[in-house]
Formats: sequence, structure tokens, C-alpha cells
Amino acid sequence: MELYDLIIIGGGPAAWSCGMTARNRGLSCLVVTAGASLSGLAKAHMITNYPGVPNVSGEDLLASFRAQALDLGVEEKTGNARQVMQSGDQFMVLVGNDIFQSRSLVLSLGAARPKMLPGEEEMLGHGLSWCGTCDAMFHRNQPVAVISSWNGGAEEAEFLANVCSSVDYYTLARHDLPEASDKIHLLDAKPLSVTRSDAGSVLRFKNADGTEDEKAYHGIFVFRPSVAPSQLLPGLRLRDVFIEVDTAMRTSVPLVYACGDCTGRPLQIAKAVGEGNIAAISAAEDLQAKDKEKNA
Ligand SMILES: Cc1cc2nc3c(=O)[nH]c(=O)nc-3n(C[C@H](O)[C@H](O)[C@H](O)COP(=O)(O)OP(=O)(O)OC[C@H]3O[C@@H](n4cnc5c(N)ncnc54)[C@H](O)[C@@H]3O)c2cc1C
Repeated sequence: MELYDLIIIGGGPAAWSCGMTARNRGLSCLVVTAGASLSGLAKAHMITNYPGVPNVSGEDLLASFRAQALDLGVEEKTGNARQVMQSGDQFMVLVGNDIFQSRSLVLSLGAARPKMLPGEEEMLGHGLSWCGTCDAMFHRNQPVAVISSWNGGAEEAEFLANVCSSVDYYTLARHDLPEASDKIHLLDAKPLSVTRSDAGSVLRFKNADGTEDEKAYHGIFVFRPSVAPSQLLPGLRLRDVFIEVDTAMRTSVPLVYACGDCTGRPLQIAKAVGEGNIAAISAAEDLQAKDKEKNA
């Protein structure tokens, strides 16, 4: 398995800018992105304050950042980074069912905060999971619910159906659904909240006719195209809802940097691009210092 110098989790202007400078500094670099359409920039109709590129659509500007980074040798993996684990000197990033390894890490997750269901945070790790691959085995031959807001949930449901006795599939937002089968049941009901009781993991939902109901499962899986930073990398210090960084974009975790909207206001492209550049330079300097220390 390739060991990258740097893995960047993102896919907006901060990530691509960081990737460009990382390549200029000679670092091997992988950008893991849940998808261009999820960048704040993709939603911007017209940008008039980004220097040198007057009156450009957000979509075009983003495509141009990406193309420039790929031209410089940045690699790209499409998928949701669900968890980062540290093993010795290395970071292991879980993307779908794959693991990617690096010596340093940049978080450029954007400002979107996943809105959790009432009860979700308390139940995480106690009958509720965000990762099918990690936790399906705890529910072997048992009924589970999937609550999903994006296409990744469909893939997960199919995987869970191989392990669990049945999968009830609830949607939080419109997306490509899995195929209904003996094991996968597509439900027309809106999840409202989750709780843990003697009956198991209980999902309360609103039916299409407006009535409310609840059902107990052995486990509940929730899939969204983003993960809260502190869940992604335990130990990361936050300031309010943003990732705490110093002026070199270093976070509270050594060799982990953050840039762009996820570090705080102003939520602007120029700031995201500038911070991405600084994060790459800091990562290059810290890796070089580490190598020197090792070889001394
Ligand atoms: C409607 C609108 C108009 C705007 N207009 C302007 C403007 O005119 N001028 C200006 O300067 N700014 C504008 N902005 C703000 C600008 O778009 C943001 O400041 C900028 O996009 C921030 O870049 P970023 O890279 O930090 O985050 P984003 O562009 O939001 O990118 C974050 C990326 O991270 C990915 N991601 C998050 N979590 C994960 C994960 N766990 N695994 C994999 N990928 C993940 C997302 O898929 C996304 O692609 C506007 C924003 C909006 C919404």
C-alpha cells in the first residue's frame, strides 16, 4: 500500500490549493473528496471577488482549481473519509471500504456541519454507527435500519444486507436508492429521532400520512457525505464549531493541519486558498524536520 506524504480530506478550493503547493514542495499527495457538488463553491452562482478571475461561476472556478492540481500530480480518491486512525508515525484514512496511509494530514472539510438527529450523538457507539464496514459484524443476522442522505448509503445498505437479517432503508435527503429486495426494504418515512431502550436501538419516524411511529432495531446506521471533525479524528481541538489552528495551520494533533471554512470565518475562497497554501508549506517543513531528526 502506498504511503503518501500527505492526505488532504476535502475537495474545495482549500484542498486543491493545498495539493498544488504540496506538489511544488515535492510531496506525494492524495485528495479524498466526497464530491465536487458538495463544496460550498459549487453552489455559488457568480464569483466577483476572487483576484484574477472576474465574473466566474463557482462551478467553473472549482473545476479549474481541480484540473490545475491534478496536472501537478495530485491524486484524487472520491469517497467519504469516515475515520482517521493513527498507528505509530502514520495516519490511516478509512474511505468507503478502503484504507489510505499518509505521514501527514490536512483537513479542509468546509463549513457544513452534519445536522444530527436528536439522540444521535449520545447513541454513537452504543447501537448506532456511521460505518457499515466497521460495525456490521456486531449485528450479524439481526435487523438493522439505515438512515441515509446520500448515494454512499445505498452501497452500505447492500453490504449490510449480506451480514444482517434485514435492512430497513430510510432517507434524509433525495439520492440514488439501493434496489429493494427480500432483505432491503425501502421505507417512505422521515426519521425524527433515535433512542436506546431495552428493546434495542429505537427509531422514531413520521409516516407519509403524517402519523408518527417507532421501531426497534438491533442497530441503526446513519450515512451522510460528511463527518464532524471531532468524530473523524478524535483528539482534535475545536474552537466553537471550527477546528482550532495556529497561524501555520497546525491543529492540536501533530502533523495534522486544517484550512478553509472549517477553521472559521471569513468563509471566503481567498482565505481558503491562502490557508491551503500555508498548510502545505507547514506539512512540508515539519516532515523535513522529522526526517532530519531521524537521520541525525
Ligand atoms: C451560495 C454561495 C456563494 C458563495 N459566494 C462566494 C463569493 O462570492 N466569494 C467568496 O469568496 N466566497 C463565496 N462563498 C464561500 C466559498 O464557497 C467558501 O468559502 C469556499 O468554498 C470554502 O472552501 P473550502 O475548501 O474550505 O470548503 P468547501 O468548498 O465547502 O469544500 C469542502 C469539501 O470537503 C468535502 N468533505 C467534507 N467532509 C468530507 C469527508 N469526511 N470526506 C471527504 N470529503 C469531505 C466536501 O465534499 C467538499 O467538497 C460562497 C458560498 C456559497 C454557499
